[in-house]
Amino acid sequence: MRPVWDKNKCVHCGLCAVYCPDNAIPVKDGKRLETNFDYCKGCGICARECPVKAIKMVEEKGDESE
Ligand code: SF4
Ligand code: SF4
Repeated sequence: MRPVWDKNKCVHCGLCAVYCPDNAIPVKDGKRLETNFDYCKGCGICARECPVKAIKMVEEKGDESE
């Protein structure tokens, strides 16, 4: 699974970054940035913790390299 972030919904609370077990969500100057998919393992915690539902888990197309 891959977290898709809706930057228009995001209120930059930073919770997703705090809860992400792999530090895959960068925050810079108080703004959440795009997920780093090299680190993300698709656990879905960020989507669960986001208070405004700005992250949606979607299925990844079966590609071994991902
Ligand atoms: S799915 Fe898990 S690993 Fe990926 S960004 Fe969200 S919390 Fe981090
Ligand atoms: S938890 Fe949701 S609203 Fe907060 S920074 Fe992450 S994506 Fe944005």
